[in-house]
Amino acid sequence: MSDLIPIPVSIKIGGFDYAVSELSHKEAETHGIDARVDFYDLTIKVRGDMHMQHFAERMLHETLHGIWDAAHLGETEDEETVVTRLSKGLFQVLRDNPQLVTLVTQAGTS
Ligand SMILES: [Zn+2]
Repeated sequence: MSDLIPIPVSIKIGGFDYAVSELSHKEAETHGIDARVDFYDLTIKVRGDMHMQHFAERMLHETLHGIWDAAHLGETEDEETVVTRLSKGLFQVLRDNPQLVTLVTQAGTS
């Protein structure tokens, strides 16, 4: 993972502070995953040995799972499909529209 791009220490979702850390290679291989969110211990873990663009998209993906939980949408068969499609779409829109990111993050701050 790049040392040049700051990784958030935590992400606020639905009023909760999720601690962000790297998923170990062993945990990833054992469970066959590259990222996970835990609603009980409020953690988001992402493999640190993937390309930074994949890392960022996976962060969005796990954040959307957190939003899904915070919105009480319930466990459904559609959750993974919806979150996967939205995270990839959101990743593309945010990367290709930095002025939109600025608008959202700076709105009402000055
Ligand atoms: Zn998922």
